[in-house]
Amino acid sequence: MNDCLFCKIIDGSIPTKKLYEDDICVAFNDSNPQAPTHFLVVPKKHLASAVEITDDDATMVGHIFAVISLLTQIFGISDGYRVVTNCGAKAGQSVQHLHFHVLAGKELGSFN
Ligand code: AMP
Ligand code: ZN
Repeated sequence: MNDCLFCKIIDGSIPTKKLYEDDICVAFNDSNPQAPTHFLVVPKKHLASAVEITDDDATMVGHIFAVISLLTQIFGISDGYRVVTNCGAKAGQSVQHLHFHVLAGKELGSFN
């Protein structure tokens, strides 16, 4: 995707300090953090959002949650964190490449 911000971060054309990278996904800090710890885990495969996930992506999605678990243990937040994926403009999605927010370090409260 030529015009996709996260594809450009993944391919290095927008230099970004990566917290983690493997063949399937990357993680980097959110540039507008909403909590003391706020990073994004992003598949290298371009999907516009969670609505495009199919059974073919099961391994990728499972792997991303395993990476999230690993990173939360490394960063010492495994006792309390939130994973969010916004899907569509009505849900506040601003970057049209599937990504998972990981937030921690403050009282996150419950959803209403
Ligand atoms: P969403 O609104 O759910 O689509 O989340 C997109 C997130 O990407 C927002 O929290 C932004 O702060 C974040 N973001 C936008 N541009 C960058 C960037 N260049 N590096 C890191 N995070 C970014
Ligand atoms: Zn993309």
